[in-house]
Amino acid sequence: MKKSKSTAAIIGGSVTGLAAATRLNNLDAISQVTIYERQKYDEKRVDCGEAINDTTLIPLEKTPENGFVNNIDGFQLRVYESTYRRLEAYPLATSSLRCDPGYICERDAVERQWANNLASSGVELRTGRSVSPAEYADIVETYDYIIDASGQPSLTLKSKGKTEEYTGDMVALNATVEGDFSAYLNRPRIFFEGYVGYAWSFPKSEHHANVGIGWAGDQRPDDYFDALKSAAKRNGFPVPEREQVNIATIPKGPSLNPANVYVPEENVFLVGDAAGIANRYQGEGICQGIRSAYLLTELIAVGNESSYPRELYKLMKSEYRLAHLMRGAWVEHEDPELLAAITEALAGLTIDEITRQPTTVIRHVLSQPMTAAKLISNTGMIKRLYDSYTDSWEYAITHSS
Ligand SMILES: Cc1cc2nc3c(=O)[nH]c(=O)nc-3n(C[C@H](O)[C@H](O)[C@H](O)COP(=O)(O)OP(=O)(O)OC[C@H]3O[C@@H](n4cnc5c(N)ncnc54)[C@H](O)[C@@H]3O)c2cc1C
Repeated sequence: MKKSKSTAAIIGGSVTGLAAATRLNNLDAISQVTIYERQKYDEKRVDCGEAINDTTLIPLEKTPENGFVNNIDGFQLRVYESTYRRLEAYPLATSSLRCDPGYICERDAVERQWANNLASSGVELRTGRSVSPAEYADIVETYDYIIDASGQPSLTLKSKGKTEEYTGDMVALNATVEGDFSAYLNRPRIFFEGYVGYAWSFPKSEHHANVGIGWAGDQRPDDYFDALKSAAKRNGFPVPEREQVNIATIPKGPSLNPANVYVPEENVFLVGDAAGIANRYQGEGICQGIRSAYLLTELIAVGNESSYPRELYKLMKSEYRLAHLMRGAWVEHEDPELLAAITEALAGLTIDEITRQPTTVIRHVLSQPMTAAKLISNTGMIKRLYDSYTDSWEYAITHSS
């Protein structure tokens, strides 16, 4: 006999898992939602730049107590010739992007408060212990819906021995540091310096900030910490203590491959970083994760969850397309002057526009004909344009849409 109500297990209780729990807990058809999170929320550490845009997606009041410590106006992009430059050298370009609303957060506080609210509304939290592959098999047996929000590499792929499908695409280091950030409190800085990647300084208050550096291209430094230290000195933010620095990878795949975001025979769905959907060129993944969780729960609400891979593909398509083109501007040319010109052409746009709206980005670049001509006068770039508009930008897409 079919049960009238279903149960749901969420593995991983970070932003994506919390978002899934929030929406599932509101569904009449779900009787119980359980989150399995290996860390305890009081001690939870997150390895992230902590910039959250599109914050209305998080169902918390945007107060400092809830972790939204710095309400920012946008980001300042600074493009330099290279890492080998005089300290007083001016940037080739300085331009600003808008972000409305946007925050630099204490993300552990956001997650703690969010989890507390869920616990008060009946979500069961099992924290402080990692789910092993054997326990994963039990969870799959026990619950009707299994949402894998365990980040990358996902527990689902670990359990199936398929983790090689994740290839670290972006290596990043970050830390929280003390200093004087009053000069750019509401406009965090991102520094492009002639390599495929960037450094950042994101103030959380006048006196502390999240700082870091990431590499998205093939050329990586021999000593990551040394590279962060030099970036801090060049760009005028404090050098973090070595023991405070987290190092992490932002994965390349295996997103948008239906076989890897949905396991129909087990009713397992992968969301957020577990599905590999962090942005391919700027590394943002919080709102992507939350969106994937909300999408899945909307489909569960109407009994159409089997279309999740196809709908996720539709949701992410513009962003992937744009990321593929934006990476091309770096990877195919490796020309800081061109990057500076593009950055200037994009000034005034919002983070959402430069992340998810290819048409807006292309219109702005085309408004600078010389820049546009230089950008596409390159066979690699022409191939990227072709690939992204024929949906073959990274992986063979096997679904039928
Ligand atoms: C250095 C760096 C800086 C970044 N900066 C930004 C930024 O500024 N803005 C932005 O939007 N994105 C940023 N990102 C990307 C962002 O951090 C991720 O995309 C985001 O955290 C994904 O959220 P998630 O909930 O899907 O996964 P995760 O945050 O990885 O969470 C997975 C959760 O699952 C738990 N877990 C894992 N395995 C198990 C298990 N076996 N049992 C139980 N629990 C388990 C973990 O403890 C964790 O809480 C950054 C990433 C890096 C590496």
